[in-house]
Amino acid sequence: MSSGSTAHRIVVAVDGPAGSGKSSVSKSAARELGYAYQDTGAAYRALAWWCLDQGIDIQHPDSVIVALDRFMYEIGTDPDQYFVRVGGDDVTDAIREPRVSAAVSAIARIPQVRAQLTSLFRAVIVASDRPGIIVEGRDITTVVCPDAPVRILLTADEEVRMARRSAELVGESLQKTAEQLQKRDRQDSQVVDFMNAADGVVTIDSTHLDFDQTVHAVTELVAARTT
Ligand code: C5P
Repeated sequence: MSSGSTAHRIVVAVDGPAGSGKSSVSKSAARELGYAYQDTGAAYRALAWWCLDQGIDIQHPDSVIVALDRFMYEIGTDPDQYFVRVGGDDVTDAIREPRVSAAVSAIARIPQVRAQLTSLFRAVIVASDRPGIIVEGRDITTVVCPDAPVRILLTADEEVRMARRSAELVGESLQKTAEQLQKRDRQDSQVVDFMNAADGVVTIDSTHLDFDQTVHAVTELVAARTT
């Protein structure tokens, strides 16, 4: 499926590293704009969760690829009714568990997984019934929707990202959170460059912005590009 097949909807592509706030910012901006919202990291997480659940060895790409055909995934794109389901099970919270975060990069580096999930992301965009959709992840501006009229790289200084993520996770120390995030970013950036803006992608650095200011920066840019 080519990215052109999503052209009848306004696609806002948002990429960024772990802890950049892209999920919460994208969800809030979508709500304000009356757009749908798609969290693509949830699909990678759901696949990692399912492989762990099924006893599929994630270190063996062939086992994951064979199992892909049986992976039944569903995501809610209404920013007020977000859910993630695998084979009918609600895994919205389970996919955030540290064991899933630790496993996800191994499956995200398998090219066949990326190709299949990219097709799925485009199908979700096409199925959305809103005038626009904010799609966030690591390779949305470059691979999934390179022709989107609005493409954003959401960043923040590393210390700020670590502190924000740590505040979200009850019971985890700042140091442990920082180590896990750094490890995941390091593994993920071997596959996709989400630290540098590609040509035509606007960088929004939220280091010195609060949450509302960051959401505002996104909605302003969407308004400027779409009216
Ligand atoms: O966004 P989030 O941190 O939940 O993403 C979880 C994982 O999914 C990332 O660490 C990365 O391995 C993978 N991912 C990806 N491409 C995307 C979105 C997420 O490889 N577009």
